[in-house]
Amino acid sequence: MQIDIMTLFPDMCESYLSESIIGRAIRKGALNVRCHNIRDYTLNKQKQTDDAPFGGGMGMVMYCQPIYDCFQAICDQRGKRPHLIYMSPAGKVFNQAKAVELSKMDNICILCGHYEGVDERVIEEIVDEEISIGDYVVTGGEMPALIVTDAVARLCEGVLSDEECYSEESHYSGLLEYPQYTRPYIWNGREVPEVLRSGHHANIEKWKKDQALRRTRERRPDMYEQYISEHPEDRLQD
Ligand code: SAM
Repeated sequence: MQIDIMTLFPDMCESYLSESIIGRAIRKGALNVRCHNIRDYTLNKQKQTDDAPFGGGMGMVMYCQPIYDCFQAICDQRGKRPHLIYMSPAGKVFNQAKAVELSKMDNICILCGHYEGVDERVIEEIVDEEISIGDYVVTGGEMPALIVTDAVARLCEGVLSDEECYSEESHYSGLLEYPQYTRPYIWNGREVPEVLRSGHHANIEKWKKDQALRRTRERRPDMYEQYISEHPEDRLQD
């Protein structure tokens, strides 16, 4: 999969993308992520990328032209038009289903806003969808773009060691994950549930499913009811 990120701060993104699981996946070629500096596409001498908003108001608004030209250059490099996402607090809130949908595309491009955001006309002209990471505002689109990139990347073949790594995690199947434990068996007087040390595979699976259902019912009743409407046989009896 190819992910292109358009940003005024490529170093911010590259630093995150070079580390840990995603960094390793990129190095071994399981996916390709490229950051493009929107400032490289300015046509003015000062390399200015933003200006005061028409109608007044605080902050600066990013120009259409460098964003448009940056996207055209990406389309030329890729030989096609990638699906373009604008990270925006006014977008549809991101979730695992959207991550799965995006992971099936072979090329996505993500536009990061900054300051007060982006001139609406370039959004209307080239953006396919707006995605929000939640109902709050952060300074720029870089962290939101990295959240989407990370969530999508770990679903791509060859990024994690096995599909089980993500298919058992919270949200993938519509439930929150069961609690996890590691060594030592007793820590601060707290013991790991006995069943997990029993070696009895069927009982362990049953315990995990039960814990996932209980945790979801307690913490996310909305998710629990949705899951139970699709799997009525799993409804907890107590
Ligand atoms: N003036 C904008 C508003 O009120 O909707 C907020 C601009 S914000 C300070 C600057 C940039 O950060 C946005 O253009 C967007 O790219 C990114 N951003 C901020 N919060 C976000 C969120 N919850 N989800 C996705 N992107 C966000």
